Amino acid sequence: MSKAKLLESRHRMKELLNAHFADLGEAAGDPSRKVAWCTSVGPAELLHTFGFEIYHPENHGAMLGATRTANDYIPKANAVGYSPEICSYLTSDVGAFLAGKTCLTAAYGLTEVPKPDILVYNTNQCRDVKDWFAFYARHFDVPLVGIDSPVQVGEVTDELVHSVVPQYKALVAELERVSGRPFDGDRLAEVMEVSARTSELWGQVLATMQHRPSPMTFFDTTIHMAPAVVLRGKPEANDYYELLLAELNDRIAKGFSAVDDERYRIYWDGMPVWGRLRELADFFQEAKASIVVSTYCNSWVFDAFDPKNPFESMSRAFLELFISRSDQAKERIVAELCEEFSVDGIIYHDAKTCPHNSNTRYGLPQRVKKQTGLPFTIIYGDLNDLRCFSDEQAKTNIEAFLEQLEAKAR
Ligand code: SF4
Repeated sequence: MSKAKLLESRHRMKELLNAHFADLGEAAGDPSRKVAWCTSVGPAELLHTFGFEIYHPENHGAMLGATRTANDYIPKANAVGYSPEICSYLTSDVGAFLAGKTCLTAAYGLTEVPKPDILVYNTNQCRDVKDWFAFYARHFDVPLVGIDSPVQVGEVTDELVHSVVPQYKALVAELERVSGRPFDGDRLAEVMEVSARTSELWGQVLATMQHRPSPMTFFDTTIHMAPAVVLRGKPEANDYYELLLAELNDRIAKGFSAVDDERYRIYWDGMPVWGRLRELADFFQEAKASIVVSTYCNSWVFDAFDPKNPFESMSRAFLELFISRSDQAKERIVAELCEEFSVDGIIYHDAKTCPHNSNTRYGLPQRVKKQTGLPFTIIYGDLNDLRCFSDEQAKTNIEAFLEQLEAKAR
């Protein structure tokens, strides 16, 4: 069976992540330093301004999924009242914590998750993140602050942006109190500059997949997005994406195809199935199908970031997040991406425990098909809870879909 081809840059990424987590571990044990936990599309730039080291529980949740340990822990969270129906990042992360375990031990040598001094959320993605952080705020008896964001956002108007800016500004006083540092607008502009560049480079990395054949696939991007999430606001993220971009451009120059004899180009909508990344990557490789675009990995491209206008631009960028948009806006975005990446069809992942990022339940796939003419299929699974995912059913479903694409191509 053909195997997915790994990028060389991954070795450098591993070094960077090792250094990042080692530093986080040290910061958590040093009373002179402060640790903030932040949601993945939360105001990380603002936290860096105050010198916080940042930890992202969603990254931990994804690691629990990818290491297939999530199902060991989910029942522990269920037992204390967190339903099996809610976010399985939340239940696996909280369950692991209750069990006194973390996948950071095997990956980075940390014996425990870094204790927070403050937790900062943005509900632009879902309410689950706030409930998730509230569990830890109670446990550690530390402040929980954040942004309660509008959902079902259609057009991101100036009026809407200005309606949430005060929430970002209102965080400042608590961040000053916990960090012991005054707010420094110049420092915020510097961090925004770094993040804007990270976002730009990550966008360029993803755009290489517009090339036919594509130099990498969605399965690579789910791994290589880590610096865009956990190192956002740090210059080393930019150095990393320069390196990765050079490797991808080199692949393109050499005519390298991530999937041998790329025959179909596919859009993946929704969450990854973290516990099946390798198997699905190999399966699509064998089927000569390249997944070249996803709204998931695109979520860390923030075109609006503007260091000259930090509060307004971060408010706008986080409102523009795909997951928080109305169906009408999502349909337009999906259709545009399908055209830009020359896709032949769409696979929607309906993730049982993440209705927020499952765009399958209110007729969106049918409307996008009407608009674009592109065939689609839906696979039913989950991001972390593998009890919701059937390998056989998913493969049968995808094989039938690829046959449909083949028939259309003839
Ligand atoms: S968006 Fe989905 S996967 Fe992410 S935290 Fe919310 S419920 Fe969990």
